[in-house]
Amino acid sequence: MNSIGMQFINGVWTHGSGKSVRDIINPASGKVVGTVAEGSSADVDAAVAAARTAFDEGPWRDTPALARASLLLKLADALQADMAAFAKIETENNGKPLREAEGDVTDAANCFRYYAGLITKPLGQTYDVPDAMQSMVVREPVGVCGLIIPWNYPLLMAAWKLAPALGAGNCVIFKPAEATPLSAIRLFGLIEKLGLPAGVANLVLGAGEIVGARLSEHMDIDKIAFTGGTDTGRLIMKAAAGNIKKISLELGGKSPCIVFDDADIEVAVDWALFAIFCNQGEVCSAGSRLLLQDGIYDRFLARLVERAKQIVVGPGDDPLTEMGPLITREHMERVLSYIEIGKADGARLMCGGTRMAGKLSEGFFVEPTIFADCTPDMRIVREEIFGPVLAVLRFSDEAHAVKLANDSVFGLAGGVFSADGAKALRVIRKLRSGITWINCYHPTYNEAPWGGYKQSGIGRELGTFGLEAFTEVKQININLAPGKIGWYRH
Ligand code: NAD
Repeated sequence: MNSIGMQFINGVWTHGSGKSVRDIINPASGKVVGTVAEGSSADVDAAVAAARTAFDEGPWRDTPALARASLLLKLADALQADMAAFAKIETENNGKPLREAEGDVTDAANCFRYYAGLITKPLGQTYDVPDAMQSMVVREPVGVCGLIIPWNYPLLMAAWKLAPALGAGNCVIFKPAEATPLSAIRLFGLIEKLGLPAGVANLVLGAGEIVGARLSEHMDIDKIAFTGGTDTGRLIMKAAAGNIKKISLELGGKSPCIVFDDADIEVAVDWALFAIFCNQGEVCSAGSRLLLQDGIYDRFLARLVERAKQIVVGPGDDPLTEMGPLITREHMERVLSYIEIGKADGARLMCGGTRMAGKLSEGFFVEPTIFADCTPDMRIVREEIFGPVLAVLRFSDEAHAVKLANDSVFGLAGGVFSADGAKALRVIRKLRSGITWINCYHPTYNEAPWGGYKQSGIGRELGTFGLEAFTEVKQININLAPGKIGWYRH
């Protein structure tokens, strides 16, 4: 990017109220790949005012669903047609391997397609009530929505929020993570071409504690849809209390991947590696706790470590790369500090454990790291690291596996590997988690709901649940026998 990336407020590209800029870094090289305008509280206020007017006075909420659907489909096609540029930007800005970035572009385009289809399908209900009344429910847009996302899937998370929010007829202020705004800026370039009324879709850039916090407390915003860390989610809940905003929170996790003695070891090793090391371990649903049954513990671990050592770490634009760099220097240092904590707490380091040297020393690369013989009290077992660090624990039987798996403040995801289908389902049904897999890990579908139990969040994205989350429910009662009600004597 040669010029400065701008914000999009009330249908106009603008630097905003200030003159500050932020350099955007390629995590594979530590070099600047772009410079963007730094948003401010005043920019949030301007975007909210535009969205408020667009919602209260504009035609968007009353635009027929079919017309909104056709715009979402157009956006999906434009995104897909621009796949190469989007994937390149995503890899340069986030670090992920190019083929994963290409997958994200396709998934994002399909998310717009999915909601384009869904919004023209039946949504209401009618009731047979004990009076001469027609009672029914219609779904209406929530209003003005603040959409705040993290840096691990910048384009995909944008699609997960923008598609249902706009599809349902809301007006939005979208805020990407400060480290990864580049694909969002390009996406808004495509949104601009759709010709939506001014103020319907706004893009505000900048720091979470300024721009995100202002959105969360703003009295003219009806809903915040947030994806990010659990501590930030807590702050947002508090800030949203002022006007009792609707909130949906997709937060952190420390998800268990459970392998029983009877599982196919080669298959389970493959998925267990993917569970923790895909997207550099920067995945909310990462299988970051691996629970192995006694009978296979040593054999499984040996094979897992052998395979982990073969993972090719490198810049995302190298076609051989299987795992890229971490997002920022600060995040890399945080992940490395957890590795030191793991060692100090007595976990057995089996592989990895250090920052990559040599050619990769310019970027923020950490080796795939596995700790064995972990115990439930260790911090590397309890806390979300959000990097390529796996904690392996041992279990004896089904009940023990469930107990260990649920011993967490989080409840986002979980997987079970076993040749015994009934046993696998029994264990899955006992997991206090919102997203689960049997004999696989991570496959994610636009059609199925995404979200967590416990401190992993509130509400669900994707699927029909994800659309409902951007609607209000209105009850309508129509008197079929109009006349006086007979309550008063005169
Ligand atoms: P983060 O919470 O630091 O930041 C997420 C977003 O919130 C960013 O846009 C940031 O600018 C903004 N923000 C920061 N402080 C804010 C505040 N006070 N008020 C409002 N907004 C604020 O998280 P991160 O480091 O970007 O992402 C990693 C976290 O996201 C991990 O915990 C991960 O598990 C979680 N995550 C969850 C899901 C899910 O679907 N459950 C998906 C991806 C990531």
